[in-house]
Amino acid sequence: PVRTRIAPSPTGDMHIGTARTALFNWLYARHTGGQFLLRIEDTDRERSTPNAVQVIFDGLKWLGLDPDEEPVFQFARADRHREVAQALLEKGAAYKDFMTPEELEAERELARAEGRVVRSPWRDRSPNDAPDRPFVVRLKTPQTGETVIDDQVKGRIVFQNENLDDLILLRTDGTPTYNLAVVVDDHDMGITHVIRGDDHLNNAARQTHIYQGMGWEVPAWAHLPMIHGPDGKKLSKRHGAQAVSEFDSMGYLPEAMRNYLAKLGWGHGDDEIFSDEQAKAWFDITDVVSAPARLDWDKLNHVNNHYIRQADVPRLTGLVETILKSRDWAISGDDREVLARTIPLVRDGAKTLLELADACVFAIRKRPLELPEKAKGLLTEETRGRLSRLAEQLKAAQAWQVGDLESLIRAFAEAEGVGIGKFGPALRAVLSGGSPAPDLAGALVAIGREESLARVEDALS
Ligand code: GLU
Repeated sequence: PVRTRIAPSPTGDMHIGTARTALFNWLYARHTGGQFLLRIEDTDRERSTPNAVQVIFDGLKWLGLDPDEEPVFQFARADRHREVAQALLEKGAAYKDFMTPEELEAERELARAEGRVVRSPWRDRSPNDAPDRPFVVRLKTPQTGETVIDDQVKGRIVFQNENLDDLILLRTDGTPTYNLAVVVDDHDMGITHVIRGDDHLNNAARQTHIYQGMGWEVPAWAHLPMIHGPDGKKLSKRHGAQAVSEFDSMGYLPEAMRNYLAKLGWGHGDDEIFSDEQAKAWFDITDVVSAPARLDWDKLNHVNNHYIRQADVPRLTGLVETILKSRDWAISGDDREVLARTIPLVRDGAKTLLELADACVFAIRKRPLELPEKAKGLLTEETRGRLSRLAEQLKAAQAWQVGDLESLIRAFAEAEGVGIGKFGPALRAVLSGGSPAPDLAGALVAIGREESLARVEDALS
């Protein structure tokens, strides 16, 4: 069965590129009925704090990309990595390199002058010559011929072996290097497809030699293109958000992120919107394009708006409540009901949850509302009279629903012999206190009968 993985190094945030890599691994595993795994590459002990690791767990959880097995921690496996290095030594596929720092420096200069890679004389020396001093363990990389990577995204990539030096597997202090650890872990985890960023393409050639040294099966490779900013340049801070947590706090829904990120390098015809089920059915790693993808905020907003319009109202109510609380709104049980009524009336225009929260504020404002100067100007004697007559009718209205209230307001305007424009803006201002609000009937329904009438009374008294 197919087994994929992501192998993030905890750095303190989860980059959007890591999220997309996780998504593609997850989709491919789900498409093939395989498993999606997580390995935490925590060998940088300074950066790999518990918090930094938690950020990755949280990011995956938020995105809804749950690994199928417990995470593997790379640092804890150092003994196993050393064991494999030892096995490579015993097979003669690796050797101890006793070059001193001075000798290595001299060899580097010479190699540079001769236009070749660094070579160690210890590659061909008998282990019996071993001096008593520190050494590194290097892989005996083939020096002639070529190494071919048949990448499922990038196509056939050929490396000339003469350009590859003998990779270090263990440092002088016995710690395993990145390339050794990755290969041992991927092998032990039974990974069949290594799907990762194309910044690791060169490592694929080196890692292939480690697999071959051990006589292990080499996984299928799929190196994903970078995500670029809207201007086609490498994604960076000046393009805005980059961390998964930022997209969360900017009010993007995880299902919108999954849908949109799937479009960064992959797609199903011109479909902008597709469900997880569709993506799982359609996704194939060989359909990923090799050119960099561009982050397009307008498209992301469009997709997010689609999912905001689709989402369950109770769920959106909870999300809006969280946002408002973070702005120091105290949300009562009544407010929650008001929010649940308001959301369906305002969500069509919301590109993000923050916009949705903004659009709900008018309904939960507390009386007495402070009216903006402009609104006060609308409240002429004539309009006051009209609003108080309208309030009487609203008090008596049969049904407190958008359609009925629209009819009521229209009939009222007709009976008064004026257009709705004569009193509508004033009523809206009185109801919303100047906050953005939907049209009159929508605002009345959202706010509720009693509270609406109280707001009108406040303004008229
Ligand atoms: N730890 C590596 C990174 O964060 C990933 C290595 C891999 O996927 O093979 O870029």
